[in-house]
Amino acid sequence: MMELMKKLSDVPGVSGFEERVVELIQNELEGHVDEMETDRLGNIIAFKKGKSDAPKIMLAAHMDEIGLMVRHVDKKGFIKFSKIGGINDQMLLNQTVFIHGKNGPVFGVIGSKPPHRMKAAERKKILEYEDMFIDIGTFSDKETLEMVGIGDPITFHHEFVELPNNLITGKALDNRIGVFIMLEVMKRVKTDANVYGVGTVQEEVGLKGAKTSAFKINPDFALALDVTIAGDHPGIKEDEAPAKINEGPAIILTDASGRGIITHSSIKEWLISAAEHSDVPYQLEVSEGGTTDATAIHLTREGIPSGVLSVPTRYIHTTVSVASIQDIEHTIELLVTALESF
Ligand SMILES: [Zn+2]
Repeated sequence: MMELMKKLSDVPGVSGFEERVVELIQNELEGHVDEMETDRLGNIIAFKKGKSDAPKIMLAAHMDEIGLMVRHVDKKGFIKFSKIGGINDQMLLNQTVFIHGKNGPVFGVIGSKPPHRMKAAERKKILEYEDMFIDIGTFSDKETLEMVGIGDPITFHHEFVELPNNLITGKALDNRIGVFIMLEVMKRVKTDANVYGVGTVQEEVGLKGAKTSAFKINPDFALALDVTIAGDHPGIKEDEAPAKINEGPAIILTDASGRGIITHSSIKEWLISAAEHSDVPYQLEVSEGGTTDATAIHLTREGIPSGVLSVPTRYIHTTVSVASIQDIEHTIELLVTALESF
């Protein structure tokens, strides 16, 4: 279990470049599902066939992670980059990265002016990403461009580590946790329902893969599997983010103050009753920020009753997110029970 979670967290897959995650999903689900296909946008759709008159249920887990992209190489060989997905500039400083160039990954560091040479006022200022650059150890544009091209995706480098109390940390827990849950559910579930496990592309940049895959599948119900903000650490108030690590999956009732999803009451009842039947702890969440693939899916065609199951995760949208393997396991159990209730 940990080995797969580590593989998923480590594999590169910036929005628009999810092929390596697709490969991993294909290898994992081979022999566990009836059909697998990728669509024209790059989503992977795995299908476990049920009874012909039983409902079609879509489980969507976005495969992409936030990252960077090569935008410019200067005369001395330093690289300027653009941000892909929601990134706070402060977290970029002094990160180590891999640039995925034509001949394979190139290691780099995000450099900036040393504090010794900053004026007092300058030191207090938040450094913006436009003032940072990547150093790959080259001395000219020509040398850099032999390894790196404009438009190459860049992933952050952070080791997957197991912490005490069932906790893990890794570079892309958002949303390889969701992918992991989707994989395990597809392997374990035995149901009359027709289950579609989908790895979606480009969620972090506009819920794009969810739109096209939901249109193709046209499910009766859908669930997005993702992570949500855990507010159980210093610097955040309990009422700002009530979900806590190790207290079970969060059933999202509303996100983005209702501009994202307002979960269909039938889905809410279905998930709560599955949690109670499987004896799994759960948390209910009304959130004002953030959203998931379910926002795009529920507005597909004539409307698709949808919900979100999320694993509470600390420091989301950084390279050092922390989550609980116990919450992940509980989410899988809840979902399997929910799907087997058909
Ligand atoms: Zn996510």
